[in-house]
Amino acid sequence: MPKYIFITGGVVSSVGKGVTAASLGLLLEARGLKVAMMKMDPYLNVDPGTMNPYEHGEVFVTDDGAETDLDLGHYQRFTNAKLSQKSNVTTGSIYNTVIQKERRGEYLGKTVQVIPHITDEIKASIRALTAGSESDTDVALIEIGGTVGDIEGLHFLEAIRQFKYDAGPNDCCYVHVTLVPYIAAAGELKTKPTQHSVAALRNIGIQPNIIICRTGSHTLGADERRKIAMFCDVGQDAIISAEDISPLYAIPLNFKEQKLDDTVLRLLALEAGESHLEGWRQMVEKLKTPRDHVKVAAVGKYTGHEDAYKSINEALIHAGIANNCKVELTWINSESFENGVLPGQKLKDYDGILIGPGFGSRGIEGKVRAVTFARESKTPYLGICLGMQIAVIELARNKLGLERATTTEIDPQTPDPVISLLSEQRGVTDMGGTMRLGAYPCELREGTKAFAAYGKPLIEERHRHRYEFNNAYRERLEAAGMIVSGTYKLGENELVEITELRDHPWFCASQFHPEFKSTPLSPQPLFRDFVKASLEHRRALKR
Ligand code: GLN
Repeated sequence: MPKYIFITGGVVSSVGKGVTAASLGLLLEARGLKVAMMKMDPYLNVDPGTMNPYEHGEVFVTDDGAETDLDLGHYQRFTNAKLSQKSNVTTGSIYNTVIQKERRGEYLGKTVQVIPHITDEIKASIRALTAGSESDTDVALIEIGGTVGDIEGLHFLEAIRQFKYDAGPNDCCYVHVTLVPYIAAAGELKTKPTQHSVAALRNIGIQPNIIICRTGSHTLGADERRKIAMFCDVGQDAIISAEDISPLYAIPLNFKEQKLDDTVLRLLALEAGESHLEGWRQMVEKLKTPRDHVKVAAVGKYTGHEDAYKSINEALIHAGIANNCKVELTWINSESFENGVLPGQKLKDYDGILIGPGFGSRGIEGKVRAVTFARESKTPYLGICLGMQIAVIELARNKLGLERATTTEIDPQTPDPVISLLSEQRGVTDMGGTMRLGAYPCELREGTKAFAAYGKPLIEERHRHRYEFNNAYRERLEAAGMIVSGTYKLGENELVEITELRDHPWFCASQFHPEFKSTPLSPQPLFRDFVKASLEHRRALKR
């Protein structure tokens, strides 16, 4: 029977519950324990797949094709927890299940209610996380989205309260992550909001065992620690000072210094081995002391929301670690290239160019122009999903003279649909969970940049798209300089998954999303080689 850690948030949203949960997961794994991780989100969407990433942040995709909250990306980067459809539930998905059961008559005439039916379903989803192949889990960490006090999170809090009641006395531990703001006029960190937040938690019957205090640029002093401990009924050693720490990957080391892992193990009455964090520490050191730097331009349609491309930002940091260099990433609005700015003017100062995923027609023409610049100036290029589709469109237009070549996502009537709907997508009308999702194998062609990066003939990467390369144009594009370096074989059919350019130092574009599998200890090969090529490009230009 696994132990359970529930992570809640107080005072404000975006308080860092995801990274805290992931960091704690890492510390427990470093003690030799097997962890599972899960996020519960209060919104009504069945999953975040239909939500605007510029509002909600990126949609993270698992191997089994779940479209999930970006916090799962943190779990992936910090821990070895197996992430799947089971790792993210929402109010919408829980209600959906309960309502379907009700329609099937499974409640045998009962009145279906939030308590017990919704709360039972939530508890069942927690237990399902560690069932089957995951039954050897030692500790399950469950993060509750939102902030304590929100109406929309109440059913989750009630369910985790009951969970302790159902489990044994040392089987559950509650971690509350809260803001302790610094008030400059008083020159003090203020503990009152935390006291109120904990009071709200206790009001619904949850007594936190550990309080993690986000203190901004200040460190929690002995006085504040004592105050919070006393008012919130928590041991002083279970009050953790979580000041802002950079880089992000150093956060677990701060928790380790404050013995967070020991406290958790004691509360859960768990035996565990010595801590092994050497590899992680070395990685953080490397990250802090880069020997060089490269400038990468990411060309996108909106550029304001950092979290919209979280995994790409992180994958570039990982690639920097692998190459001992700092990757300076700048987002450039592709629409500027449609409004008179010459791509070369802006992009010539960058050592590498990246075009990431995207949907819809806005900014597409500007992206095509950016690819023309990358191709002609021989600047390293990494295209991801839409970034590969754009690379194909660019070559068709400028090398094959097919001026109106495009994707049918933008122009269903185009005379040259070089990118067209996947056959399995024909007739699909629902938007939620219906793309080509999750991991698919991909065969690599020897002698290509992709093969060199991965160093093996068969890989598996994660997808999220509806459109694909149109094989009717393959021969002509190959004659014009395109290399198909990765394919997915399905009977007679072959999907093109990676394209490259022949006369170019490094130009790789994938239909899949390599960023979803990148971790700081195991940087993703395409990102790693893209940054390496960018570094070489910079050195060749003596910048
Ligand atoms: N909109 C494109 C498609 O659906 C690309 C998707 C993406 O970049 N994730 O195929």
